[in-house]
Amino acid sequence: MVRIAKPIARVSTLCIHLQTAEERGSFKINKEEHLSPILGTQSLLESGAKAQLNQFDDDDWRKAQEPALLKLIASELGIETKQIANFELGLFDIQPASLGGIQSEFLNSARLDNLATCFVALESIVDYSKSEDLADDDMISLIALFDHEEIGSQSTHGAGSPVMAEAVKRITSAFCDVVNVEAHSSAVRRSFVMSVDQAHAVHPNYASKHEKSHGPKMNAGVVLKTNQNQRYATNGVTGFIAREIGRKANTPMQEFVVRSDCPCGTTIGPIISSNTGIRTVDLGMPQLSMHSCREVMGIADLSHGLSIFGSFFKNFNEIDESLEG
Ligand SMILES: [Zn+2]
Repeated sequence: MVRIAKPIARVSTLCIHLQTAEERGSFKINKEEHLSPILGTQSLLESGAKAQLNQFDDDDWRKAQEPALLKLIASELGIETKQIANFELGLFDIQPASLGGIQSEFLNSARLDNLATCFVALESIVDYSKSEDLADDDMISLIALFDHEEIGSQSTHGAGSPVMAEAVKRITSAFCDVVNVEAHSSAVRRSFVMSVDQAHAVHPNYASKHEKSHGPKMNAGVVLKTNQNQRYATNGVTGFIAREIGRKANTPMQEFVVRSDCPCGTTIGPIISSNTGIRTVDLGMPQLSMHSCREVMGIADLSHGLSIFGSFFKNFNEIDESLEG
């Protein structure tokens, strides 16, 4: 794993003075032509690393990479460039997160969608693992943090892969001496997934983008997402369970449905529930500027998120059993 904590590349916009009035108004970007990051000045790159590295390397893949980048990765990892056989790298804004708002009630940060939830889920399960409630809990609590959600989840280890169903199967078989199909099926039926991804708070400058009776606000609670086309996995039963989880945690919750004339985003919720048959609800902490390189959410919603996860681990079984009545 490598994290280079300095701005080694930058995607620069074109100054508005060099744009026509029409170009300014449309704010259009060609992904192929306009988004290449600038890594350095060519003369420096060529005179430096390239000359030193390429002549001794017999690997075609490495020769095709920018030597200065290979050199930097190698030095960050404390290895030789020749030890790099391949990489998967992503660019991100390295500005640290900051508090914002007149009372510091907002968190400005890169990638809140969906690292904010990863953080809250991880903190919650660590807390739960230390709590006394765990001693008499006969359920299995786990969190799953999936790659590739933003590109459709169809990958070897994304939410569209068999990994979730296999996890339930392997957990079940750990409790059985022989492979027990019946035990697995009933474990699936008793299971419950909270699919938690960030949600869209109502934007004061674009309030009409929200359905008028469903405008979640920042710092006002975790959002329950519902969509009749099942772009979110919530249904009558799972929505009720989620509200009960919130009620038992004494934490506020908000409701979201997308406007009927607006396309709806989706989450891993419907993918997991349709692949596994596990009951699923879609939730999320509200934010603005989703997918901007700097997003914003309310800090109180981090606490609301922690409460919801904690209550889920602690109270789900009781809520589920109450449904049978
Ligand atoms: Zn997203």
